[in-house]
Amino acid sequence: MQEGIHPEYKEVNINCVCGATYQTRSTKNLTKIDICANCHPFYSGKQKILDTEGRIEKFRKKFGDAYKTKK
Ligand SMILES: [Zn+2]
Repeated sequence: MQEGIHPEYKEVNINCVCGATYQTRSTKNLTKIDICANCHPFYSGKQKILDTEGRIEKFRKKFGDAYKTKK
């Protein structure tokens, strides 16, 4: 395989503002999104959640270390 002709295809963790985290593969360094299937009004039936600070903090406390030590 020739080098330099393939974009770097790496695993990235995507964090949504609602606290949901997804691991996917991408050539881009997209790590933050505003909305996802979990919090999109179409799927949740609610308006976009704005008061998410507590949830995000909880999520980070619960999973933050796990994600750090994963790599
Ligand atoms: Zn979301």
